[in-house]
Amino acid sequence: MDYFHVPFGLSAPAPDLIETVPALGALKKANPSYIERAEAAQKTGRLFARDEILPRMLDIDSACARDPRYFDWDLWRKANQKKLTVALIPEKLGGLGYTALGATILCEEMTSACMGITANILFNNFGLLGSLVEFDTGIVMKIIRDMVKAQKNDTPVFWAWAITEPGAGTDVEEAEAMATMRPSTYAEKVPGGYRINGIKCFITNGSLAHFIIATIPMDRTHPLESMATFMIPASSKGFSVGKVERKCGQKASQTAELIFEDVFIPEENLWEPPGRGLRHTREILSTTRGFVGAAGLGIARGSLERCVHYTSMKKIKNHFLIEEDWVLFAIADMLKDIKAVRAACYNFALAVDTYHVMKLFESRPVRTLLAVLPQSFLLSDFVAHLAASRPIISAARTIKQAMVPDALVENFVKEGSAVKVAGTDLAMNVSSRVCDIVGLEGMSYRYGIEKCFRDAKITQIYEGSNQANRIDLFHHEIGSLIHKEAAI
Ligand SMILES: Cc1cc2nc3c(=O)[nH]c(=O)nc-3n(C[C@H](O)[C@H](O)[C@H](O)COP(=O)(O)OP(=O)(O)OC[C@H]3O[C@@H](n4cnc5c(N)ncnc54)[C@H](O)[C@@H]3O)c2cc1C
Repeated sequence: MDYFHVPFGLSAPAPDLIETVPALGALKKANPSYIERAEAAQKTGRLFARDEILPRMLDIDSACARDPRYFDWDLWRKANQKKLTVALIPEKLGGLGYTALGATILCEEMTSACMGITANILFNNFGLLGSLVEFDTGIVMKIIRDMVKAQKNDTPVFWAWAITEPGAGTDVEEAEAMATMRPSTYAEKVPGGYRINGIKCFITNGSLAHFIIATIPMDRTHPLESMATFMIPASSKGFSVGKVERKCGQKASQTAELIFEDVFIPEENLWEPPGRGLRHTREILSTTRGFVGAAGLGIARGSLERCVHYTSMKKIKNHFLIEEDWVLFAIADMLKDIKAVRAACYNFALAVDTYHVMKLFESRPVRTLLAVLPQSFLLSDFVAHLAASRPIISAARTIKQAMVPDALVENFVKEGSAVKVAGTDLAMNVSSRVCDIVGLEGMSYRYGIEKCFRDAKITQIYEGSNQANRIDLFHHEIGSLIHKEAAI
């Protein structure tokens, strides 16, 4: 498919960030480096999506339809060489230094070409996010060093985040539902650590993961009170991967069942003690839901771009399909919705950079240290040992707790839910409307339009079903008010 036919979206030159969202121009005056990094993210993402993802996405989709374990390592290596696998790590430490805004923009560009491939490359940041929630400086530095070293050696280090269980998807993300769930997994205290049994399912990158961050209860009859978070190396004895799901869309991204049979985990791999597992989940969701919204935005944009391309080539009567009034109006409508959701996604990302844990990387002391100290020192064993020392961990955790209190996490879950539902419903609505416009011929496999539709559907289910996200939004914004009124 020739994307250069209409210079729109992926085929437009980048960066055009300020043109796309003019308000960012004001921010660029105040903080040039912040917006320049976002522009770099847009440029890198657009070129990679256009030159590397678009030409292969259908072949990869077909290969994964035949074998759900198929993985395009060649494409992954290309992304790795561009450091997209370590995009969120500060530049001085070996990454690209993208902020939440940069990552959102990168996500939009890449998902406009293919959602599944993007998940293979970007969702690995779960490891970093999971460790930032803990804010054990020793663990954070270890993960950064491991990821940067692997990137340099062109070898993968995959992380997966496992909360869903057979019979417990939505339940693991919300306190009221968790209180009554009956989990399959459980952990028992044994000398020197914990023994883990049970099954997790639908885990992104689960079949590729080297490390798994998993929420597991110590007492199956009281999951809410006893839920803990463990870091489980996939090399652990007793761990295995079950089936890799056959999905309607996002086929390039593997979704797997994980089996734990008497897996021993040492004491230091307990990341959150019993009772704190849900808090860990909520803090990760407080940032990731916004990014899933941005992924939905990208899918919607990709659908619209394919629609513009197809309708401007397709002749009906004696003119092009895009010249029909009804098509023009439909495209304008979709453009309007995409612009509104993009503003919401960028707004959320700006808030993550300003108030949430990402503000640490943007804070003056950290930026000064990163600017002044050489990389060899920052990534040295000396700094790693220092980061792992008790006083440093304890001081860092105190700062983190003050920086990201529970109320802020819940507020971000709520705002993230709004963005997640807006972005993923947009993906579904736009991709469905585009199918209506282009008809059966336009939906032929080679145009990628029906693939956008299949990919979109799945985004409405994960990171909390859109229904669960709506419930979160309602309870936080309206439900609490109703209770207060009733109490007067
Ligand atoms: C492609 C893909 C990738 C995924 N990746 C991961 C991953 O990396 N890690 C991970 O842990 N999970 C992952 N998941 C699982 C995903 O998070 C769950 O599918 C999701 O949370 C929904 O859970 P469920 O499918 O079990 O549906 P259920 O929880 O069984 O829900 C079924 C229906 O009931 C509704 N419902 C459920 N509970 C309530 C309630 N309390 N009140 C009102 N309505 C309710 C839901 O909204 C939904 O409509 C992935 C799923 C997919 C499809």
